[in-house]
Amino acid sequence: MPKTPTLRPDLADLEPYDPDMRPARVILTANENNYGLPDGVRAAVDAALSEVPTNRYPDATSPELRRALGEMWGVPADGVVVGNGGDEIIFNLLLGFGGPTRPLVTCAPTFSAYELYAQLTQTPVVRVARTESFDVDEVATLSAARDAGLVVVCSPNNPSGNLVSPAFVERLADQTDALVMVDEAYGEFADDGSSCVPLVAAHDNVCVLRTLSKAFSLAGARVGYLIGSRPVVDGMLAVRLPYSVNRFSQRAAQVVVERRAELRPALDAIVAERPRLTALLAGIADELTRSGAARAQAFPSQANFVMMRVIPTERGRADGLPDAHQVHELLAERGVLVRDFSSTPGCEGCLRVTVGRPAETDELVARLREAYGLGPAGDPAR
Ligand code: PMP
Repeated sequence: MPKTPTLRPDLADLEPYDPDMRPARVILTANENNYGLPDGVRAAVDAALSEVPTNRYPDATSPELRRALGEMWGVPADGVVVGNGGDEIIFNLLLGFGGPTRPLVTCAPTFSAYELYAQLTQTPVVRVARTESFDVDEVATLSAARDAGLVVVCSPNNPSGNLVSPAFVERLADQTDALVMVDEAYGEFADDGSSCVPLVAAHDNVCVLRTLSKAFSLAGARVGYLIGSRPVVDGMLAVRLPYSVNRFSQRAAQVVVERRAELRPALDAIVAERPRLTALLAGIADELTRSGAARAQAFPSQANFVMMRVIPTERGRADGLPDAHQVHELLAERGVLVRDFSSTPGCEGCLRVTVGRPAETDELVARLREAYGLGPAGDPAR
């Protein structure tokens, strides 16, 4: 009998990634841009794609796209490397700059991909816990970074939505030899002045991840990029799969980046909707807390999502108040999909909700209030 192939023993417990993408009327689960591309940009993408030769390999170095991204940021094209989504960039960063002798420091709770790709590349992980309000513990992170190969800080952080200050990232870079990667996948939704891209020019050991999946409405095309110093970009170019970003995605991304001004109205609408959604969720949290049924709050966000925590008290549980996981299921049954973080350490009782269109906020809030047995809300912004 031939032997049954088995996965590497250190990966034996891995399960396939399940993004929980069931069909739903209101999709607020993956922090996509619910507005999609404006018609004119979509038509330009379609026209460009119709000219793409299918029988030729893509240009492995994506020169046109890197030039367009470099122009957008005022950095040279060779200070940018692209990947099949930010995910591939994270994987390649760990592949090239991590490994068994170069631990990764993360500020947890944060984006789960860092630990997954660390495991795949046999990179040890040092998890520094964030504070109660999800701020980075700066002293503990600085201290852990002294023995690290890599530090990843997500800003705005997924799932909590808060920022880390560029001043702290600069201190990390100055005081350690680690390569510091700032994940700004949601950077376009944050306040001006919060990006760490300006640090890259003077710090060889700072790099910044961005993606076209969120603000740029291109999650389906899978295009992310890293802005870094020449040693970092050259290292990433050396380890990446040469054709990971296909011709169609390179062209679509280039068109969207060049016509980004037309995406501004949707971006502004999302940023304007965020405080209204936050206030409505905070209203629910306050009502539940005041009635003694739960300890609850909504967290302030600089991203296109808002996290909310509801932990039923003993009395709430006795009265049948559902926990976060049950609420997630109740919403899904009613066609509203959000992300359940309640089993993530540090995120007990938490759901994360994408900022969508105003009508989607209204539908979500109505279904949430039903799930918690509350009456209809007064709208804080209307
Ligand atoms: N970083 C963070 C913090 C994210 O939340 C995501 C997407 N969920 C990514 C990176 C990667 O996104 P993509 O692969 O779509 O570019």
